[in-house]
Amino acid sequence: MKNLNIRASKLLFVRSVVIVCLLVAVMPVMLVQAAPNVRYYYESRGDVVWEAPSKEKQVALTFDDGPDPTDTPRILDLLKKYDAKATFFVMGRKAEEHPDILRRAAAEGHELANHTFTHRMLDSSFTAEQIRKEIVDTQETIFAATGVRARLFRPPGGLFNPE
Ligand SMILES: [Zn+2]
Repeated sequence: MKNLNIRASKLLFVRSVVIVCLLVAVMPVMLVQAAPNVRYYYESRGDVVWEAPSKEKQVALTFDDGPDPTDTPRILDLLKKYDAKATFFVMGRKAEEHPDILRRAAAEGHELANHTFTHRMLDSSFTAEQIRKEIVDTQETIFAATGVRARLFRPPGGLFNPE
């Protein structure tokens, strides 16, 4: 039974890493294809980070859409086992429900980042004020739970526009 749990944990970890790698590999391509000059414009302003060039073989682990009461503690256990750090792009609504998980992630040295409050796609149906509220409410929720001021924001689906 324990071996099954370890195998399931390893599978979850590998699956998560694969998903992250796919997102990292595919999302920038999707965004750049949608707007070829936009990437360089925002990168030069320091507003958007698509990649962090390095001569070393490195990978940045990021996990979105939590905290989840089942998956996030298992991910944290695996990260601890391998002495690895990650960035958790959290939803404010879930962070409100599971502040203890956020506190654990912060205490174990992981970065907490903003992934909106509701995870609705911030498309043209949103006003600027509604988008601002999604971001600010999540910032406040993360801060209230952990004392951390999130420095990164990832929009659901990678949606953005020049404004
Ligand atoms: Zn997401």
